[in-house]
Amino acid sequence: MITRDEILRWLTETDVARLEELWTLADAARKQHVGDAVHLRGLIEISNHCARQCGYCGIRAPHTGVKRYRLSADEIWGCVERAVEYGYGTVVMQSGEDWGIRAHWLAALIRRIKTETELAVTLSLGERHADELALWRAAGADRYLLRFETSDAELYGRIHPGTDGQPGRLDDRLARLRVLKELGYEAGSGVMIGIPGQSYQSLAADIALFRELDLDMIGVGPYLAHPATPIGRGEWVQPLADGEQVPATELMGYKVLALTRLVCPEANLPSTTALATLNYESGRELGLMRGANVIMPNLTPPEYRCLYEIYPAKACLQESEEDFHQAIRRRIESVGRTVGTGPGGRLTVKG
Ligand code: SAM
Repeated sequence: MITRDEILRWLTETDVARLEELWTLADAARKQHVGDAVHLRGLIEISNHCARQCGYCGIRAPHTGVKRYRLSADEIWGCVERAVEYGYGTVVMQSGEDWGIRAHWLAALIRRIKTETELAVTLSLGERHADELALWRAAGADRYLLRFETSDAELYGRIHPGTDGQPGRLDDRLARLRVLKELGYEAGSGVMIGIPGQSYQSLAADIALFRELDLDMIGVGPYLAHPATPIGRGEWVQPLADGEQVPATELMGYKVLALTRLVCPEANLPSTTALATLNYESGRELGLMRGANVIMPNLTPPEYRCLYEIYPAKACLQESEEDFHQAIRRRIESVGRTVGTGPGGRLTVKG
């Protein structure tokens, strides 16, 4: 089992030939534990309203420059139908922490998806109340994504002001992840890579925490500065000294992805949009070759997509849904992989 020191050593490795070894190890672990299938999860960004003030995120509540939207049930259903048409196994409904999404309204929609389609349903709606999470689980939701963003409690507090004006508490977020597991969801989490103030040690601790939490899904992607946010403007947190600050680079994204595969070999790991944003030509494929086994094509209606601007120039804005759908199978096959069928949940028994 890879140790914390080894993780740290890989994170700071610069030798290209040595890094090839890491990519090979991660790809072998991926093949052995989750196989060659790449699961497609249709992403529906159902609302960009958000009650939170996360210092890095373009849809944070105080950002008045963004036009807010919330999809109707009919609009979401249209996206669900396209997921079925394209043969995807899962729909992922994501939003800001939008309390205008009423719990019973969403439960009815989840029930309809589970009754009328074979799709798995993943939710990613922020820190909603435990009784709402239970209601959605009872309605048939299968999975929930909630990144803890960083395992450094002090940094977490500085970049996430709480709704009471006090620094946000990492423990609250970890407690929500525990609730999700107790409710029987497949639980997903993850971090941003290279947020100012993130040290190599804390990133190594993040990766170790993935293992401790026994996560079913893990999303990791480089931090991308949004100029309309405090952290994007250089406020709230400052980069550490050279050699201490984790860079928010594509290469660091692949290192964290590969190490995540080694510490959590059975988890479902997406090749994230943040990676594709940094390298539109081949970021997704390189992610697949360095540990990932999931891609999340964007099914959000085009008129809303550019409004879900968590960071500038999200990769998905450059392509239409149809173009992406046509290209994605070819891209997956070009790296010797197959398109997954069925819901593509975690394969083995948890332990
Ligand atoms: N509201 C839900 C939540 O907080 O879990 C889901 C939506 S939130 C926008 C989804 C993810 O976007 C966050 O977990 C965060 O890691 C990522 N994100 C937000 N701003 C980002 C940025 N500037 N760069 C990279 N990732 C970012």
